[in-house]
Amino acid sequence: MAAAETLVASLQDVYTRWEPVIGLEVHVQLLTQTKAFCGCPNVYGAPPNTNICPTCLGLPGALPVLNRQAVEFATLAAAAIGCEIRETSIFARKNYFYPDSPKGYQISQYDKPIAEHGSLTVPTPAGPKRIGITRLHMEEDAGKSIHDGFADSAIRTYVDLNRCGTPLVEIVSEPDLRTPDEAFEYLTLLKEILLYTGVSDCNMEEGSLRCDANISLRPRGQQQFGTKAEVKNVNSFRFIRAALEYEILRQAELLDAGERVVQETRLYNSAEGRTYSMRSKEAAHDYRYFPEPDLTPLIVSPAWKAEILSRMPELPEARRARMIADYGIAAQDAATLTNSRALADQFEVAAKSARSPRRVANLLNSEIISRLRLKNLELEQSPVSMAGLAKAADLAESGDLSSKQLKQLFDICFETSEDFPAVYEREKPQQISDTSALEAIIDEVIASNPKQVEQYRGGKKTVAAFFVGQAMKASKGQANPALLGDLIAKKLDA
Ligand SMILES: [Zn+2]
Repeated sequence: MAAAETLVASLQDVYTRWEPVIGLEVHVQLLTQTKAFCGCPNVYGAPPNTNICPTCLGLPGALPVLNRQAVEFATLAAAAIGCEIRETSIFARKNYFYPDSPKGYQISQYDKPIAEHGSLTVPTPAGPKRIGITRLHMEEDAGKSIHDGFADSAIRTYVDLNRCGTPLVEIVSEPDLRTPDEAFEYLTLLKEILLYTGVSDCNMEEGSLRCDANISLRPRGQQQFGTKAEVKNVNSFRFIRAALEYEILRQAELLDAGERVVQETRLYNSAEGRTYSMRSKEAAHDYRYFPEPDLTPLIVSPAWKAEILSRMPELPEARRARMIADYGIAAQDAATLTNSRALADQFEVAAKSARSPRRVANLLNSEIISRLRLKNLELEQSPVSMAGLAKAADLAESGDLSSKQLKQLFDICFETSEDFPAVYEREKPQQISDTSALEAIIDEVIASNPKQVEQYRGGKKTVAAFFVGQAMKASKGQANPALLGDLIAKKLDA
């Protein structure tokens, strides 16, 4: 049995006895211009310790001033995931000591977060499932400890405080997830929605979206939760799914042997495909939360809330439904096209000018996506723009290009990284639109396939497609397909 099948079989076996209970905590950096409580630029990748000031360094006497845009982004994100916005929320100090947090505390929210009681509905094999969202609260990020990359990294750790004070929202789910696949779907949907709202770039490699997962097992049918372990710092959704699968098998093995799961924080090592213990939770910090004395309560008045929510874009699910209705495209095509807001926007512009929006969508899925996969590119990196694709679709629709010619042109686009119109203008394939030349080809095809001619004349009109295919092949893909179809029908009906 292949490794993947063994894993699936082992998980299925565990599921007959144990039910996983999974909750997710997602940290999302907000794309504000400046930091949460000071005027330092909020940018990624600046030289270390250049975007800092007395406030984000926590120097004595420096006072925080709340960033209005951070509140607006948090409110927009919260509403997009169905949360109720609290009119008065309170910032709190979360006290802990760590080298990348010079203040010795983090400004966060505790018992009165800005938003609560949201949900997402994720697809599962048993149909759509509602996953509760406990809360969304605002907080600030810490700096970064740098353990490698320096000549003396073996004996020293460096610290970059640029990230200190970057505005975050933390989104905490209810423990409603039951499988690693559900966790994966939840995260995918959450990221998609956040990207649509524009509040974050959700770039996991740069740490703009980070996820911690809590997981425990309980005997099937039992209400009470088992002891959970927390898996931290996993930097892709695929790895989170793998880490959860690993944890389910690890915890089941312990419990089956009559042992206890230890409540602890674990790290996932993607190279080894396993988690290992980082620190025991029993020894975890007591954060000694108390209201932040340097900030007044945050008030999002009904008028301000309404103003913020008036900027809510159409969210992915609604957009998919509308695009299916507006353009007559398939659900699968709509799913691909709404991958990102930018792509959906581009498609809609292209679709409005194209003769057949449906053909634009078809070409994207049949010709572009596969070529992107081969080159390991994202849709945003495609050399063929949506406008270029619309032109290609029009040329196919009018019969000026055969599907074989289209394929060749797309191949060139991907080889040379040029958009379709440029390649088309240069390479403009020679098309045989000369009626007598086409008729000669058709006569030959008809003469060498008497059986199919008989079928056609016996009433099986769909055989016409066979002749079009054969004649197209004989013309080396250069016949004008529309003209070819007409001529073949005429010849066969004669
Ligand atoms: Zn600052």
